[in-house]
Amino acid sequence: MEKNEKNVNLKINGVAVSVPPGTRLLDAARAAGFNVPTLCYLKDICNEGSCRICVVEVKGARSLVASCSAVATEGAEVFTNTPKVMAARKTTLELILSNHEKKCLSCVRSGNCELQKLSLEYGCDENAYAGETLKFAPEINNPYLVRDNNKCILCRRCVAVCNSVQSVGVIGPNKRGFFTNIGCAFNKSLDEVPCVACGQCINVCPVGALREKDDTDKVSAFLADPDKVVIVGTAPSVRVGLGEEFGNPVGTDVEGKMVTALRLMGFNKVFDVNMAADMTIMEEGTEFLHRLSDKTAVLPMITSCSPGWVRFIEFYYPELLPHLSTCKSPQQMFGAIMKTYYAEKMNIDPAKIAVVCVMPCIAKKFERGRDNQAASGYDDVDVAITTRELARMIKTYGLDFNNLPESAFDNPIGEGSTAGLIFGATGGVMEAALRTVSEVVTGKTLDKLDFKAVRGVQGVKTATVDVGGTPVKVCVASGLANARTVMDEIKSGKADYQFVEIMCCPGGCVNGGGQPVRPASVRNTVDLRAERAKAIYAKDKSGKLRRCHENPIVKTLYADYFGKPGSHKAHRALHTSYVKRPKFK
Ligand code: SF4
Ligand code: SF4
Ligand code: SF4
Repeated sequence: MEKNEKNVNLKINGVAVSVPPGTRLLDAARAAGFNVPTLCYLKDICNEGSCRICVVEVKGARSLVASCSAVATEGAEVFTNTPKVMAARKTTLELILSNHEKKCLSCVRSGNCELQKLSLEYGCDENAYAGETLKFAPEINNPYLVRDNNKCILCRRCVAVCNSVQSVGVIGPNKRGFFTNIGCAFNKSLDEVPCVACGQCINVCPVGALREKDDTDKVSAFLADPDKVVIVGTAPSVRVGLGEEFGNPVGTDVEGKMVTALRLMGFNKVFDVNMAADMTIMEEGTEFLHRLSDKTAVLPMITSCSPGWVRFIEFYYPELLPHLSTCKSPQQMFGAIMKTYYAEKMNIDPAKIAVVCVMPCIAKKFERGRDNQAASGYDDVDVAITTRELARMIKTYGLDFNNLPESAFDNPIGEGSTAGLIFGATGGVMEAALRTVSEVVTGKTLDKLDFKAVRGVQGVKTATVDVGGTPVKVCVASGLANARTVMDEIKSGKADYQFVEIMCCPGGCVNGGGQPVRPASVRNTVDLRAERAKAIYAKDKSGKLRRCHENPIVKTLYADYFGKPGSHKAHRALHTSYVKRPKFK
């Protein structure tokens, strides 16, 4: 690498490298072509420097240095793979293994576990150190997440993401020394504290200590029941995440193969939840225009499609609940439409319909069981599984996913617009709403459908958009620390927005807590949010149907069943209510 006077120049394993001041040795090593393993460090999220796996030797230093926290210095000579370094890493791994429940054969992370991979690479003896071990009862008493501290390696990535990225902070280290364990204060369980069910802690966990509550058995039971009509709907982001579970590059769109797989698994109908996202825009757009024209209405209106976000506002800002749109999320609208309109049209008793939703999210498992989510008298949605659970089912069903032919969603009700598709990325709901609201207000076709000011992975984006001559100030935020900033602005009266989109997960659903878990080696070098979103916007760019209100199914639903957006019937089936939640039980 070329020597640069402004940069810091050093050598890694004899290779000269020039890096900007402040660069960590870990990144300097990568720039020189050497990957250093990490267990606690995670770019932009966790910099604990506690696991000591990333140690390196620096010439002249008395002891090994943690490369995730030490920065490059001029003239330094660093060695990442000396016998001393390798022995230290191996000893650290074997000590971790000595107090780890090694159940790789049945562990959900086997094959995708950062500890397992390193133990293999370093030739560890898993029984090198025998001694006292801690035993914990796995935490299972909530509908969305399982915590098993017997597998926790105390890296604290989950603590960092919950605290800094989500500003929730319901987990942290309890006790000291050998007895240290990660949990809630006073050993409460997650269902006794204001955990929002985002699942971001699962996505950063290097091992099998955190996982979603597995509902695949329920799905298999429905598929095996001859008396059930089993309908599956897939969320926008699933198609750009699922492929990663089968070795495809980040952001590969596998929609066609996914549909084929679901059909081969035995679902009676395979529909696209994008259709329900289109309906969400019809209802939410109408609600927004009503609020905008009514001087007494509460503004800004805030979107309600993200159940982790809804839980967050219910716990932390209940006084702002009147700002929340009353629309159900696309998942819940999908289920409601299936068990009301579709059941009636196909002459099926809704009691015989099982609606399965595949979601990039674990909060959907909680949302499906909320009050006021049963338009037909039966639960709108029977089971919500994550992208990861679908991948496991595809593997268990013996399908050669990458070699499956592609096929299209079922019709007449299964197709959605690409405006519904962009719901998967932060800013997508806002953009889809602006496309529809602008055209509905003016009665004219927009020249440009792309609202680029609301796209991108930044945590908070604002823009002023002309809606038929009225300037509308919008704000888009993703990640709950960013949501908190916006809520504080609204609460203090400083915000002058009319319309706000909030997504619980950073970058939106493409980075949801149910998406494929990627190791630090990938997360430290690839922006999962940006790459998955890119695939969604590419599909929208070439899409034939880019406006929710032009979806023929949406028009039919209103003409044949709901009347018009915001009608009494639409309200009964497609809208809901919220509650103030006590923070502690
Ligand atoms: S967490 Fe990793 S090492 Fe531990 S049992 Fe699971 S796969 Fe094996
Ligand atoms: S699910 Fe979200 S809020 Fe709950 S512990 Fe995990 S990161 Fe924190
Ligand atoms: S639960 Fe997972 S992420 Fe959290 S400290 Fe333990 S190993 Fe690390």
